[in-house]
Amino acid sequence: MDTKIAIMREESIDIEAIKEAGKVISKGGLVAFPTETVYGLGANALDEEAVKKIFEAKGRPQDNPLIVHVNDFSIEDLVEEIPAVAKSAMEKFWPGPLTVILKKSDKVPLATSAGLDTVGIRMPANAIARSLIKEAGVPIAAPSANISGKPSPTEVSRCIEDLQGKIDYIIGGDHSEVGLESTILDCTVIPPCILRPGGITLGMLKSIDENIYMDPGIMKKPEGDFKPKAPGMKYRHYAPKAPVKIIEGDLQKTIAKINEMMQNYIDDNKRVGIMATEETKSQYKAGEIISLGSRSNLSEVAQNVFEILRTLDDSNVDIILCEGFEEREIGIAIMNRLRKSAGFDIVKV
Ligand code: AMP
Ligand code: MG
Repeated sequence: MDTKIAIMREESIDIEAIKEAGKVISKGGLVAFPTETVYGLGANALDEEAVKKIFEAKGRPQDNPLIVHVNDFSIEDLVEEIPAVAKSAMEKFWPGPLTVILKKSDKVPLATSAGLDTVGIRMPANAIARSLIKEAGVPIAAPSANISGKPSPTEVSRCIEDLQGKIDYIIGGDHSEVGLESTILDCTVIPPCILRPGGITLGMLKSIDENIYMDPGIMKKPEGDFKPKAPGMKYRHYAPKAPVKIIEGDLQKTIAKINEMMQNYIDDNKRVGIMATEETKSQYKAGEIISLGSRSNLSEVAQNVFEILRTLDDSNVDIILCEGFEEREIGIAIMNRLRKSAGFDIVKV
């Protein structure tokens, strides 16, 4: 399949290209596009056949539901009801990196919700994404625009790498502003529960309802008969080719441990990638060292984490050692993605 590619900036949208891509969506095709969280792979959320193509192109497991992206607040057609707390969350955090889970209406095909009677809905803030939804004239179901299992794309080059030849259209924009997928808030339960941490933090959500809490399964390794409430959480995710190990604990001890582990791998003729920070990068003696950003700016770390996992893949390292981060605010989402990318291979110091 020929994949058309159009690159633009959020401040200077190529409206002709967006109209063309919108038509692709409304006719049942697939379009990758930028959002502020990560790049999405979109299809008409109301067209079962179109949605099935997303699962094929990504190699996505059939029981992993898609998030429906909308361009305005009138989502009544898509859902059975909108509880007051969901309405408040939407009003406060839309457009933005928050997905609300609601009871779905019959209009949303089971292919989109992966057989569930609920649906995740989000209004993105990115102007290119908004413009595409508007031109398509339908809500757009879109998971991340990567081959299933790989780190999510935050740059268009990664969508091209993964999906060129498999989808109809790729729209490029800037590097994703948040860099991690949306926060998922289940509003079908009382109190609402966070199923996946993201750019809208627990603290921010507590301003809507102080009883909102984080599903305790979020930071646990899915094993045995553990059934995560967000079906996607049970799969291997965000994983580069090389195994990842997270070293967590006191920072000085972390640096010492990484240097020690690195030396052992080097003695074994292994190439080691190190995910460091501005504050620590000069303290590593060898290895492919990449800084995720400053520890005093966790938003920057969030922005870079997926792209750096992919960069280390490109440099063909055999093992990736990564520092842990403080679990507060967006740090919770960062640690959730890092631990999953490591398959919960964690070294505590
Ligand atoms: P992705 O866009 O690839 O990050 O995947 C969307 C994520 O949202 C998946 O991990 C799903 O588990 C989650 N999700 C989407 N819809 C629902 C739903 N109705 N209930 C629970 N989780 C959902
Ligand atoms: Mg994904």
